[in-house]
Amino acid sequence: MSYKFTRKIWANGLIIVFLQFITDIQHMFISQEVINQRLDKKIFKLLSEVADELNLETYLIGGFVRDIFLYRKSNDIDVVAVGSGIELAKAVAKKLGKNIKVTIFKNFGTAQIKYKQYELEFVGARKESYLRDSRKPIVEDGTLEDDQNRRDFTINALALSLNKERYGQLIDPFNGLQDLQNLTIRTPLNPDITFSDDPLRMMRAIRFATQLGFDIFPDTFDAIIRNKDRINIISKERIVDELNKIILSPKPSDGFILLEKTGLLEIIFPELFALKGAETKDGVGHKDNFYHTLIVLDNISKVTDNLWLRWAALLHDIGKPATKRWDPKLGWTFHNHDFIGQKMIPQIFRRMKLPLNEKMKYVQKIVSLHMRPMQLVEEEVTDSAIRRLLFDAGDDIEALMQLCEADITSKNPNKVRKFLQNFKIVRRKLKEIEEKDRVRNFEPPIDGNEIMQIFNLEQGRSVGKLKLAIKDAILDGKIPNEYEAALQFLMEKASEMGIYPQNNSTHKDS
Ligand code: ATP
Repeated sequence: MSYKFTRKIWANGLIIVFLQFITDIQHMFISQEVINQRLDKKIFKLLSEVADELNLETYLIGGFVRDIFLYRKSNDIDVVAVGSGIELAKAVAKKLGKNIKVTIFKNFGTAQIKYKQYELEFVGARKESYLRDSRKPIVEDGTLEDDQNRRDFTINALALSLNKERYGQLIDPFNGLQDLQNLTIRTPLNPDITFSDDPLRMMRAIRFATQLGFDIFPDTFDAIIRNKDRINIISKERIVDELNKIILSPKPSDGFILLEKTGLLEIIFPELFALKGAETKDGVGHKDNFYHTLIVLDNISKVTDNLWLRWAALLHDIGKPATKRWDPKLGWTFHNHDFIGQKMIPQIFRRMKLPLNEKMKYVQKIVSLHMRPMQLVEEEVTDSAIRRLLFDAGDDIEALMQLCEADITSKNPNKVRKFLQNFKIVRRKLKEIEEKDRVRNFEPPIDGNEIMQIFNLEQGRSVGKLKLAIKDAILDGKIPNEYEAALQFLMEKASEMGIYPQNNSTHKDS
């Protein structure tokens, strides 16, 4: 290596070290400035005053402090007092004004105050110890140090002193600030104990890593692998709460890859885990549907914050493993995976304690329809097929199209361009037909009740058949979406079936 070249490397190295040094200093410097700015608010001054009056060591702690350093806005303020958090809350509420209510959770020894945009949570510093089969700890009064020891991650254990003498002083026993700068999630104590005590923390580690774009420290990560089976003692509601936060993150795939790598995914979401892998036969392979799904999820997350549309993206191919077949002529096929996928959703939602209401139905609807727009690309596609999709998707047509566009994960830019162009054509056809026929949310002009009255029929198969015939005739463009036309069609159809109007009928034109 030439002398000149070595010198250049040295110079570059020095510049990098110097820049790093400046950044660190600047970060520290800005941090204290930011702390002071953030604490320069009436609410914190008042907390400080009351804490001193009660002679209580008091700190801001947890997520709120972490978020100051991350420049994230947060209105959830956790306050810890070495003594009674409830007494502190009562005194603070009194000072804030008559109409300020304190909600006390005696069992947890905590109290809550809502004030303006803030939600303040007060707790007495505590020491926790755990029994093996429960995540409910035995709780004793403790010091700030005990309280910081019970926190899940170093970045969540930062405390800021509120007492006047040390106002704004950072207490950071586990180098949480360093971990924030290094973008690292790490447990304050032995990770095996931290995770075994409360296995929900494994989900929280992955959730924070995903939300914040952090890495999990190797030792902490390995402990999740060792303790993964302990997740079974955690309630489904808590698990899905964390899962939803992962799904709502800017890049949810990061979380699912971590869940898969740690072994948690197979336990909490076996159907998604089953998408993993790409088989090859006679030299023909299929794509790995797990990684494909994650790209689709990331893609949809760029265009929507709708949790349930993101769930639909996650589940759009969930029926593929069950429908996978090898056909010597066609290669790998997944016939009906949209239909089977939609059928699998209730059992997944029930097990995960997700809502079984219209939110689930929405996810089912999008999953069941996700192959349909693609079938409308061809030139010769009929207006009827387009009307039917508009009718079946209703107001969710835009969400469906967004999912279809997110479903394009080819690495070949020419293909991507072509597929996007195809969906543009489909969108245009949908728009044209909707403007012309208004079928998107249409209700057939004659309903079941009227059919029953006209023909004096009881509810039953004939009524259903006639109702469906009217709907099909409109969607197929045989008759316009109008009352008179529908009535005439109904009469013809009924007489074909040997059904005739009764005299006492009271339909609109009688
Ligand atoms: P976010 O509001 O985004 O969920 P957060 O850090 O405020 O983030 P919370 O669940 O509100 O999360 O918890 C507040 C604080 O309580 C955390 O920062 C952490 O210090 C502590 N904490 C919460 N849950 C646990 C847990 N399971 N184990 C240990 N400490 C926890």
